[in-house]
Amino acid sequence: MAAILGGGLGGLSTGYYLLKNNIINNNNLKLFLLEATNFCGGWIKSIKTKDYIFEQGPRTIRPKGIVGLNTLNMIQDLGLSEHIVPIRPDHPAAKNRMIYAKNNLHLLPSSLKSMFRKITPFSKPLIFALLNDIKQPNKHLQDDSIYNFVERRFGKEIADYAVSPMICGICAGDAKEISVKFLMKTLFEWEQTHGGVVKGMIRSLFKPNSDEDLELSDLARKSQEEKWNVYTIRGGLDIFPLTLHNYLKENDVNIKLNTKIEEIEFVDSGTVVLKDIAGERTEVNHVYSSIPAYSLANLVSNQHPELAQDLRDIPFVTVGIVNLHFATDKSLITPAFGFLVPPIENSPILGVVFDSCCIPDQNGTVLTVMLGGRWFKEKFGDDVKVTTLYDIAVKEISSILNITEKPSAYNVNILHRCIPQYVIGHYERVDKIRQYIKDKNLPISLVGSSYDGVGINDVIYSAKTQVLKDCT
Ligand SMILES: Cc1cc2nc3c(=O)[nH]c(=O)nc-3n(C[C@H](O)[C@H](O)[C@H](O)COP(=O)(O)OP(=O)(O)OC[C@H]3O[C@@H](n4cnc5c(N)ncnc54)[C@H](O)[C@@H]3O)c2cc1C
Repeated sequence: MAAILGGGLGGLSTGYYLLKNNIINNNNLKLFLLEATNFCGGWIKSIKTKDYIFEQGPRTIRPKGIVGLNTLNMIQDLGLSEHIVPIRPDHPAAKNRMIYAKNNLHLLPSSLKSMFRKITPFSKPLIFALLNDIKQPNKHLQDDSIYNFVERRFGKEIADYAVSPMICGICAGDAKEISVKFLMKTLFEWEQTHGGVVKGMIRSLFKPNSDEDLELSDLARKSQEEKWNVYTIRGGLDIFPLTLHNYLKENDVNIKLNTKIEEIEFVDSGTVVLKDIAGERTEVNHVYSSIPAYSLANLVSNQHPELAQDLRDIPFVTVGIVNLHFATDKSLITPAFGFLVPPIENSPILGVVFDSCCIPDQNGTVLTVMLGGRWFKEKFGDDVKVTTLYDIAVKEISSILNITEKPSAYNVNILHRCIPQYVIGHYERVDKIRQYIKDKNLPISLVGSSYDGVGINDVIYSAKTQVLKDCT
């Protein structure tokens, strides 16, 4: 018997790969999925009406790279290909990504040609950043913040106005704390081994491509041929976890909702007992934990305080989400993906997504304002009211986008500790955690966004990797 802890995308994908690799059926294993709330999907939640969809968590998925293609393979296998809505390179949401800085919206460069032009808020054409990299000596380091790395190699403006807002958009974090390996592992390795990014890039041109082989589905191949930028799911992103949930149910996985696990007792290398809030005990041979690292820390702290401490040391941030719908005939925005606000601007908002441009079948204008993240407590304190976040969001979009209409519908949510922060030393900490589990022979595998990447693709790929590791 095996149990999956948590029914977010990480837990559901673990179930999918256990079934697909016949680990459950071949061994006549019974599989449980234990989820604390009354639904599966974790942070993926879509509110749907005939006029709009409010996505409270993720809304778009990237198709690129091995992890992106792997997700598309899964989507086709689940029969969801028809629901996929790609954003191709000529779509405004692909071409128009902006930042709000120095009291103005600025379009970020989206082509090689734009590297040679001076684009505000940058004071020089971006090509100069590459010259800076060639001139800079390298610095030998184990890890560094992504901000320090980019400032050293490409200059302060790129760190402040390109990379810092990008980090806000991906993990609502502070680039001055996030590890360079989170997004720029290869560039950092080039600096460490070849003395600079440009030098490393030139050498890499002569090296054979060592990408892992992955058999591509028709959908994955189409995404490559048509050069999709991102994609979304018609009818709401929650269709994805719902379909996975049904797939698991149809394959006899015992899904127990409203089952919050409060303690894990490791009996021996093949026996583990999960105790839930109602006092029930589930005994299994192996656990796949997909719950956030800080939640898992509480469950193992009695028997393994050292492991619990390392799990707790992975920080998380809280994000405020304000979805807004304006029932107007004419769109209130210029077509674009949206804009991000660099932390140097000290704004209460992280950015705004123009949902009515990215998500199909919406009437009127739909926007999502994201607030707080790494700065949530500093800006809003410990018990901010949702009405305060709403007022701030409406005031900011009125001043930045000149929208003076009152929203016809809205939804405000505070997502407590929703995104892990891969701060300097994160990857070494995760290695240490997994080594501890190996050394102590604990029958547990770690999946989910706390360890191997914070996005949807990463979580799915992490589930696949951990499941395959256990069957070899
Ligand atoms: C606001 C926001 C926007 C995002 N946007 C994007 C995006 O556009 N694109 C993208 O690729 N990614 C995005 N992400 C990231 C993406 O949502 C995550 O990678 C993914 O949802 C994480 O899934 P998970 O299963 O690891 O964790 P979770 O979704 O956190 O699931 C964990 C589950 O475990 C359950 N649980 C916790 N403790 C217990 C317990 N003790 N017992 C039983 N069950 C428990 C929880 O109830 C939950 O259902 C976004 C995230 C957020 C928060």
